[in-house]
Amino acid sequence: MIEFRQVTKRYDSDHTALAQVNFSLNRGELAFLTGHSGAGKSTLLKLIMVMERPSAGEVVVGGQLLNRLPRRQIPYIRRHIGVVFQNHQLLFDRTVFDNVAMPLEVMGASPRDIGRRVRAALDKVGLLNKEKMNPMQLSGGEQQRVGIARAVVNKPPVLLADEPTGNLDPELSADIMNLFTRFSQVGVTVLIATHDIGLVNEMDRRTLTLDHGRLIAGGSSPLQGAAG
Ligand code: ADP
Ligand code: ADP
Repeated sequence: MIEFRQVTKRYDSDHTALAQVNFSLNRGELAFLTGHSGAGKSTLLKLIMVMERPSAGEVVVGGQLLNRLPRRQIPYIRRHIGVVFQNHQLLFDRTVFDNVAMPLEVMGASPRDIGRRVRAALDKVGLLNKEKMNPMQLSGGEQQRVGIARAVVNKPPVLLADEPTGNLDPELSADIMNLFTRFSQVGVTVLIATHDIGLVNEMDRRTLTLDHGRLIAGGSSPLQGAAG
């Protein structure tokens, strides 16, 4: 579902953010992405979201080579990728329901479809009873779950998370991880960037480790065979 082939990313000529990264994630796989600050985690996620383009190598998502994807097709690709942020980026001037509905409204879904899909997403994160509330009235863990509902509301095959438990205590972090696990069980490919080594160890899942832009563990490639 996600494949990096010898991917290098340079923002400027003398600095390499990612160097010859190889890995592939299957449908329904859940993996972590770890590494020190500046290791290249955000860059790797941005390449999947087509917010950046590789300097060399190939990025393939859902069978589609993203390198030379025409600009006009980027919004279409992004619909297939749900993204969860640390600071959840909810809007406090509207209800929980309206926050989750945003991606569907952008796509021009019908009100009936929006109602059905938003409630299905809120149900999956256990917040069906809070749809009329303002996100400000919710706890940090609940706000993060609203962010997750918004990320999955149009059923993307890929879910990316950037430090999704950064502001949460261990118990709430475990709840969020259980949600991610459940999405992977229904076939969603989940990649979670995190510094939280305790959490990574507890989950015992495949872990891609970046060090100064190099993938030093968890990778695999068609060229080199499985490694790490
Ligand atoms: P991480 O998410 O692991 O902290 P990043 O992917 O943000 O790492 O950064 C990897 C490297 O690329 C760092 O050295 C960072 O300074 C550099 N970098 C990231 N974004 C840019 C940018 N837009 N322009 C120039 N350098 C960047
Ligand atoms: P529908 O309205 O199409 O019946 P549901 O929301 O009831 O949709 O979901 C149908 C099934 O699809 C559920 O088991 C759900 O968990 C699963 N599913 C598949 N892909 C995703 C995804 N990306 N996000 C959320 N659920 C998904």
